[in-house]
Amino acid sequence: MKAKILVVEDNPLNMQMVRDILQYRGHRVLEATTVEEGRERLSANLPDLVLVDIQIPGGGGERLLRDIRADGRLRHIPVIAVTAFAMEGDQERFLKAGFTAYISKPIDTRQFGPTVESFLPQDGKTDA
Ligand code: MN
Repeated sequence: MKAKILVVEDNPLNMQMVRDILQYRGHRVLEATTVEEGRERLSANLPDLVLVDIQIPGGGGERLLRDIRADGRLRHIPVIAVTAFAMEGDQERFLKAGFTAYISKPIDTRQFGPTVESFLPQDGKTDA
């Protein structure tokens, strides 16, 4: 399924890598670098899936997640945390916070695309 994926990431090199991988696989990529921009893209575009860096300006990825889960139009959207935090217990913490999944940096460029796609909604419907 070709999806509309929002990437919220403030590091330009990470953004470029993620964008390249997803676009190569046929997905449409929307970009934001802050919590505020993320909110704007979300309400304007209703993406199929969101990838969010935990450390982003404006309150962090967990803040954006809370906004998504509190919005009836958005709360069904899978939200994957992408972060360099790799301490014991982090994965559990992120899942408990309500993230659909957790991908650690540095990104494994071969696994990243298939992993993200495994969390896409399975109904195959998209307005992208
Ligand atoms: Mn960051």
